[in-house]
Amino acid sequence: MCTEWQGWRAGTHSCELGHEAVGLVVDAAQSTRLKAGDRVIVMPHAGCGACPACEAGEHIHCTQQRDLLAETGSSSGIGTYSDYLLKPDYLLHKVPDDIETDHAAMAVCALGPSFTAMERMGVVAGETVLVSGCGAVGLGAVINASTIGARVIALELHPYRVELARALGAEHVLDPRAPDLLEQVEALTGGYGADAGIETSNNPLAPPRVLELLRARGRLSFVTWSGELPVKRITGKGLDIHGCWHWNHDRFGDAMMQRVRDARPLLDRLTTHRFGLDDVEKAFALQETGACGKVLLYPAGVPEDKRQRHSALEEAL
Ligand SMILES: [Zn+2]
Ligand SMILES: [Zn+2]
Repeated sequence: MCTEWQGWRAGTHSCELGHEAVGLVVDAAQSTRLKAGDRVIVMPHAGCGACPACEAGEHIHCTQQRDLLAETGSSSGIGTYSDYLLKPDYLLHKVPDDIETDHAAMAVCALGPSFTAMERMGVVAGETVLVSGCGAVGLGAVINASTIGARVIALELHPYRVELARALGAEHVLDPRAPDLLEQVEALTGGYGADAGIETSNNPLAPPRVLELLRARGRLSFVTWSGELPVKRITGKGLDIHGCWHWNHDRFGDAMMQRVRDARPLLDRLTTHRFGLDDVEKAFALQETGACGKVLLYPAGVPEDKRQRHSALEEAL
């Protein structure tokens, strides 16, 4: 589950409920890349597959989205909160046999945007990464950064997510409203600021604030859609700035699968709750409280072994 609960809370309806999933191919149609029974990660949307962005594997940025319902004459099949889904084969990434389905599911919105951010910013072991906001995307950023071997300073208010960020490897979790936030970050970084930062909070006040927490010639990534940046400060600090929406499975498929392997125990901690599709409203209500990490939804109900694992993790947290 991603941020669909916000639409539920706002009372807005959509036939396109859900955009990330892992599943089995039941009918491969004319595909030469996949066959029935293949386990696949479902990438969001329906990029055309032919424009310059799609050719480069950046399907999420495609401006010529396909209308799969019109093409197939189907009345449903484009939302992932469902038993069945329609998807072009080039938007499905085969899951290696040694990777568990639940872990593979983290290679969409949980790990994806911040995977791209770390890649574009060239984050390496030993660097300090500032993660602004610890929702599912920000927590994914904590995992990506700490798995690379970077040191993480996170910004978060919600007590549950502060604890979860720590459990996932954040060395410090600071209150983003603290009047002395800049001084705190400087004190933790030898006086210079963080090497790289990723803004995931979507708070419109965050971008100019996060910018100040980075060192000169630092790198900054946005997975968010709110706020403005002062050009004067970007130039003055010589920052490299990146817009990161999703990840490129054509180019980085193997690297992402390795990240999933390397992060296994952390992914288990990130996945705090599991619900069957029948209980989707309970899942939305939970997500609204913020007292969760990544939430998994199972169309056919939560498997028995996963239920037990979930309660053990709750105790650990
Ligand atoms: Zn395209
Ligand atoms: Zn998403």
